[in-house]
Amino acid sequence: MKKEIKVAYEEFANLGELSEADRSLCLEAVKAMENSHSPYSKFRVGAALRLQSGKIVYGSNQENVAYPSGLCAERVALFAWGANHPHDPIVSMAVTAHTDQFELLQPTTPCGPCLQVIAECEQMQKQPFDMMLYCIKGAIWKTRGIQTFLPFLFFEDRLQ
Ligand SMILES: [Zn+2]
Repeated sequence: MKKEIKVAYEEFANLGELSEADRSLCLEAVKAMENSHSPYSKFRVGAALRLQSGKIVYGSNQENVAYPSGLCAERVALFAWGANHPHDPIVSMAVTAHTDQFELLQPTTPCGPCLQVIAECEQMQKQPFDMMLYCIKGAIWKTRGIQTFLPFLFFEDRLQ
C-alpha cells in the first residue's frame, strides 16, 4: 500500500506582506546573525524566538575549530529558551541566513537535528508555534507547528 503525506506552508514574497509582529521578528533574526561565530563555513545564521510575554530570545550559529563542537542558530536559541524561560511559551520563531560566498535565493531550512529539537520544544510547552524562514533577498516561508517539516518526528512519551 502506497501512502502519501502532503505538507502545506505559506509563502510571502517579501517582508511587506507579513503582519507587523512577524516582520519585526524576521528583523530580530537578522539582528541575531550579528553574533554568529562562523569563521569556517562563513555561513551566518540567526534565529529569534518571540515568547508569550513579548521577550525575544536570540540564537546564532556558533562554530568551533573542532567542528562537531559547534551548534546551529536554532538550537542555540531553543536551548537558551529551555534554560532561561521554560515557562514562557514560544509563540513564533524566525530564522534567516547570509553568506558572502554565494547568493541565497530561497529560505534556509533548519537541519534535521534542529527540527527534532523544535518538535520537543513544542511538546514541552504543549502547543505548536509559528515558524518563519526568511530569505533576505527572497521569500518568507511560514508554517504553524513542526509537523510540516518533520511529519515523522520521533516522539515516545513512554520514555518519560
Ligand atoms: Zn540545525
